[in-house]
Amino acid sequence: MSTNTDVGDTPLTVLGAGPAGLATGLYARRQGLDVRLFEAADAVGGNARTLQLGPFRYDTGAHRFHDKDEAVTADLKALLGDDLRRVDAPSQICWRGRRIDFPLAPYDLLRKLPLSLLARIAREQLSIPRVSNNADDFEEMALQSYGPTLARLFLLNYTEKLWGTDADQLSPRVAGDRLEGLDLKTFLLEAFGGTKDKARHLDGSFYYPRHGYGQIAEATADALGREHIRTGARITTLSHDGTRIRRVTVNDAEPTGVETVVSTLPLTLVLRLLDPPPPEELQALAQSMRFRHLRLVVLGLDRPRLTPNASLYFPDRSIPFTRLYEPTNRSPDMAPDDQTVVVLERPCHPETEAWTQSDAALRASAVDVLTEQGLIDGADEIVAVDHRAVPFAYPILEVGAEAKAERLTTYLQRFENLHLLGRSAKFTYTHVHNLYARARTLTEELASHPEPVG
Ligand SMILES: Cc1cc2nc3c(=O)[nH]c(=O)nc-3n(C[C@H](O)[C@H](O)[C@H](O)COP(=O)(O)OP(=O)(O)OC[C@H]3O[C@@H](n4cnc5c(N)ncnc54)[C@H](O)[C@@H]3O)c2cc1C
Repeated sequence: MSTNTDVGDTPLTVLGAGPAGLATGLYARRQGLDVRLFEAADAVGGNARTLQLGPFRYDTGAHRFHDKDEAVTADLKALLGDDLRRVDAPSQICWRGRRIDFPLAPYDLLRKLPLSLLARIAREQLSIPRVSNNADDFEEMALQSYGPTLARLFLLNYTEKLWGTDADQLSPRVAGDRLEGLDLKTFLLEAFGGTKDKARHLDGSFYYPRHGYGQIAEATADALGREHIRTGARITTLSHDGTRIRRVTVNDAEPTGVETVVSTLPLTLVLRLLDPPPPEELQALAQSMRFRHLRLVVLGLDRPRLTPNASLYFPDRSIPFTRLYEPTNRSPDMAPDDQTVVVLERPCHPETEAWTQSDAALRASAVDVLTEQGLIDGADEIVAVDHRAVPFAYPILEVGAEAKAERLTTYLQRFENLHLLGRSAKFTYTHVHNLYARARTLTEELASHPEPVG
C-alpha cells in the first residue's frame, strides 16, 4: 500500500489496540498511511471488549455508544450496518427497595420519595446558590446542582464508592457529561414545563451493537486489516534520543525502529517505559496518579429478564457493587431466548481485600445482594458464572490530577514523533466516540504534514 511521506518505509506505529488504537489504525489506513499496531493482550478491544460465557455474552463493564458525533456515528453505522441498533432502555437507582429513574427526574421523584423528603428537597432547590460550573470539587458541584438531600441520597455515596475517594477530593469532571443538563433550570422545566422525557433523552437512548459492544472493536480491526495488528506484543521500552522516540522494544526482546508513534498506553506507563528515564520528579508525579480497577461477577440466569433496565445503580454504601447491568436489555442476542445474563461491577483499589478476595467469595456476595434486593430467589436459577478483572478501568480524576497529567503531557511533547491518544493515555474521562473523533483528526493531520504534528 502507499505510504505517507513522513513515515517513509516505516509504518505509523500504534501502541495498543483498544478503541483508541484501533480507530487510529482505521483512519490512518483511510488516509493511505501504512500502519502497524502492537497490542499486549491476546485480543483487540482493550477495556471495551465483549466476552463469551457458554451461550451468554457480556461486555467488560456496562458500555453504550453515545450518538454525539455525527461523523463518527455515520462511520460506525457503515462499519456495523444493521447490527448497530438504537436502544431505549432506562436506567434506575435501587434505593430502599424502590427503583428511582436515573438520571433523576422530578415526576418520578414526586411519585417515589416520601413527602417529608420531597418537602426538604423542594426547600433546598429554592434556596441553594446556583453556580454549578465553577465548583472546585465533585462534592461542591453535586451540592450546588442538587442541594444536600438529593446529592447525599443518590450521588455522593455512589461516587465515593465508584472512585474509592472522598467526593471533596475528586474533580467535578468525574461526572463526565452524566450530569449535563441536570441543573435547576432543566429540573424545574421538567417539573413544571411538562418535558417528561429528559431522562430518556440524556441517558436511556443510545446505540448498541447486536453482538455486544466489543463488536465495534472487532469490526474496526477487520476494516483496518488484521494483518496490521500484532497481539501478544507488549511494549516494554521506549528508547529515545531526547527529541524523538527511536525504538520500541516488544516483549523485552525485539527492539524495533520507529518513525511516527501514536501511544494509547496509560500516560503513567509511558513515563515508566522511557529509556533513558525522565527526571525523578516526573516519575514520582506519575506514581502518584491512580487508576480505579474493576471486578465483574457474571451470572447467566434461567429466566427471560431480571430487570427492564440498561443499568441498575446501587448507591447504598453497604452494598459492595456499584451497578448491575443486563446485556440482554441492550441486545436480546446476548443470551438464548428465555434466559438472561447480568453483570455486577465492583470497583477496587489494587492494594485492598476487594481486589484480592476469591472469586467464590465475590460471587457469594453478589448472590446475597441480588437476593436481599428481591431480584432473585437464591442461587437456584443461576446456570452459568464467570469472573473478570478489568484493571485500569478508570483514571481517578482526583483534584489536582489534571494538572499533573498536563505536566507529564507537556514533558512528553519534547518527543516530536510521539502522539498520545486514548482515555488512560491522556488521563481524561473520554468515551469511545471522542476517541474515534480524535483519531480521525490526528490521522488527517499526520497524512497532511510531511513532519509529525505536535
Ligand atoms: C466499566 C466501564 C464502562 C464504560 N462505559 C462506556 C460507555 O458506556 N461508553 C463509552 O464510550 N465508553 C465507556 N467506557 C470507556 C471506554 O471503555 C474507554 O474509553 C475505552 O476503552 C478507552 O480506549 P483506549 O483505547 O483509550 O484504552 P484501552 O481500552 O484501555 O486500550 C488500551 C490498550 O492498550 C493495551 N496495552 C496496555 N499496555 C500495553 C503495552 N505495554 N504494550 C502494548 N499494549 C498495551 C491494552 O491491553 C489495551 O488493549 C467505559 C469504561 C469502563 C471501564
